[in-house]
Amino acid sequence: MTSTYDVINPATEEVVTTVDLLDESATDEAISRARKAFASWRQVSPNDRARLLRRFADAVDADGENLAQLEVTNSGHTIGSARWEAGNVRDVIAYYSGAPERLIGQQIPVADGIDVTFHEPLGVVGAIVPWNFPMPIASWAFAPALAAGNTVLLKPAELTPLTAMRLAELALNAGIPEDVFQVLPGKGSVVGQRFVDHADVAKIVFTGSTEVGRQVMAGCAARIKPVTLELGGKSANVVFADADLEQAATTAPSSVFDNAGQDCCARSRILVQRGAYDRFMELFEVAVKRVVVGDPAEERAEMGPLISAAQRERVGSFVPDEEQVAFRGSAPDGAGFWYPPTVLTPTDPKDRVLHEEIFGPVVAVVAFDDEADAIRIANDSEFGLSGSIWTRDVGRALRMSRGIESGNLSVNSHSSVRYWTPFGGFKSSGLGRELGPDAPFAFTETKNVFISTKE
Ligand code: NAP
Ligand code: MG
Repeated sequence: MTSTYDVINPATEEVVTTVDLLDESATDEAISRARKAFASWRQVSPNDRARLLRRFADAVDADGENLAQLEVTNSGHTIGSARWEAGNVRDVIAYYSGAPERLIGQQIPVADGIDVTFHEPLGVVGAIVPWNFPMPIASWAFAPALAAGNTVLLKPAELTPLTAMRLAELALNAGIPEDVFQVLPGKGSVVGQRFVDHADVAKIVFTGSTEVGRQVMAGCAARIKPVTLELGGKSANVVFADADLEQAATTAPSSVFDNAGQDCCARSRILVQRGAYDRFMELFEVAVKRVVVGDPAEERAEMGPLISAAQRERVGSFVPDEEQVAFRGSAPDGAGFWYPPTVLTPTDPKDRVLHEEIFGPVVAVVAFDDEADAIRIANDSEFGLSGSIWTRDVGRALRMSRGIESGNLSVNSHSSVRYWTPFGGFKSSGLGRELGPDAPFAFTETKNVFISTKE
């Protein structure tokens, strides 16, 4: 039996459309079609596979404004961010369209023969993605997987299926053969779980919460199924007294309040060296109060609503009383899941705002003494995804970059994810890496073949 889901616009709380959710047997049928399609897709010559992916990228480019508008409506992303996201999907597909002809193996010296390696595609890849960046995160999985010769099943988050569904249409229109890339809206506990349990899904790429990621990994263990996990974060933005404080303070809001803080890379802990603390907070307050929170469809909007009423409630639970609120930005009243940018100054190092992922526009600021103290606080986390370091001292920047246990750091900036560099987390933030030049290899098995030349 099929159930349905009403997609809600988080800025207005209105129902946008209703989507059919797949049940277990429909999921099994899709897996079986993907399995069949794999037999021919893997045989498509590398240059043809590359050409089809370039056409897919072109189709995404031509549909960019439509995709962006869909994301504004479905996810409450600001139009500026949504346009960047659609462009990111185009660029990711275009980048990996260069991979099919470059899945180059090795030739290794041996006696009495030759030894070569092949990068064989895995088969059907199951991608399970969250609601916070529905488009880019999906493409980080499906583009390199398709390029390596796999077929892909994508399960979007229940809350945000619309852009993923549109991408499947664009792929077909661009000439990617039927069933090579299928989007399956459905519940995680049904469609996602089936990907994990089904013998014909060869790999899982999961992006989402650490809690569900742990279950997915346990399920994959039962079948020795490879899995890539991109999970939560509690990243530190470390500001030394020798930094360009104005720059550090004026850019700090975007590093944690972009996408209303619903970003796994959000720098939701700001560590400020004691001597610069007061000056930083003065500058930071001005910057936070300047953040334009409002209708995400408006060009000037810098922050939109949270994704759902439940998410707003969860975020609010981190701010039980006003005592620890240092200052706040603004948010509209009325319909929509709004929450203002909020700055906390916890005094207890065990405070949950310093350890749990909030996934909302709430940041905690703490003071530190020296480099060792900053590294100790930054690493006092189960997570290790992202982070920033602000200092004018090159040696210190490098010592801190090596000292912080995190997969993605930026110095004197809050760089977002670049698709041509590797992305992923230390510790409970994940397992494996996405993006960068090596990503297609994560969707292959290495096969070694020895050929005797003995007479
Ligand atoms: P979530 O609850 O873990 O859900 C992620 C995806 O998993 C959704 O598609 C969900 O489906 C599905 N799912 C749920 N239960 C499942 C199961 N038993 N088996 C298989 N799939 C299942 O995460 P979320 O609430 O959507 O997203 C927020 C979290 O994602 C945050 O913790 C954030 O840090 C993390 N995140 C990490 C990264 C990264 O790259 N490291 C990027 C973005 C987000 P439903 O929608 O139907 O529940
Ligand atoms: Mg969830």
